[in-house]
Amino acid sequence: MATDDLASSHPALRLPATPALGLPATQAEQPATQAEQPPAAPALAEIIKAWIRDIPDYPQPGVVFKDITPLLADGPAFRAVVVGLADTFSPVAKVAGIEARGFILAAPVAYVLDAGFVPVRKKGKLPAATYSEDYALEYGTATVEVHRDAFGPGDRVLIVDDVLATGGTARATADLVRRAGGEVAGIAVLIELSFLSGRDKLPGIPVTALYTV
Ligand code: AMP
Repeated sequence: MATDDLASSHPALRLPATPALGLPATQAEQPATQAEQPPAAPALAEIIKAWIRDIPDYPQPGVVFKDITPLLADGPAFRAVVVGLADTFSPVAKVAGIEARGFILAAPVAYVLDAGFVPVRKKGKLPAATYSEDYALEYGTATVEVHRDAFGPGDRVLIVDDVLATGGTARATADLVRRAGGEVAGIAVLIELSFLSGRDKLPGIPVTALYTV
């Protein structure tokens, strides 16, 4: 289903007659004269590029952190990326969001798709019985967990996160979904850092990034 079709299919997603989707004021080109037509709505990748910001050396020296908070704070841009993520591997029974920024995106995506939302959390945060997966970080390891009863047998599951970097988090999440009885329909992220080759850790799993660096 095309993004426009998805948006118009759901009452809560119908765009206003004059969509306010645009670039930040500092980056939008002003029309030369008042007689000029307004510019066409920018493509989704352009919107994401414009509304995120790079924070050098955060959380540690050498890392350029992709801060999505300016994008989340702009209503039309936030809605556009939610619709874009929802329009990847539907239909699905569940949308799994990866703590913590993945939650912010995955929950509205689940709402749009009339699917359930499942949190994939860091170690020790989920109250009931869990499956755990360890994965390597640049220094040390991390663990993600999911409730054992989060999925029905054969549920198609869309995994959503903000950034695909080395792919370790997404790989561990896909393994958790399968161990809990789900079928990974695909992984959808806002931003892929392609120079880190995260897809190499995800053979056989469809991956869509709305914006690739
Ligand atoms: P990885 O396991 O290396 O693919 O890392 C993905 C996870 O770490 C995602 O949940 C991201 O939120 C976070 N992450 C990794 N690198 C960045 C980055 N440069 N900017 C923002 N978040 C990042």
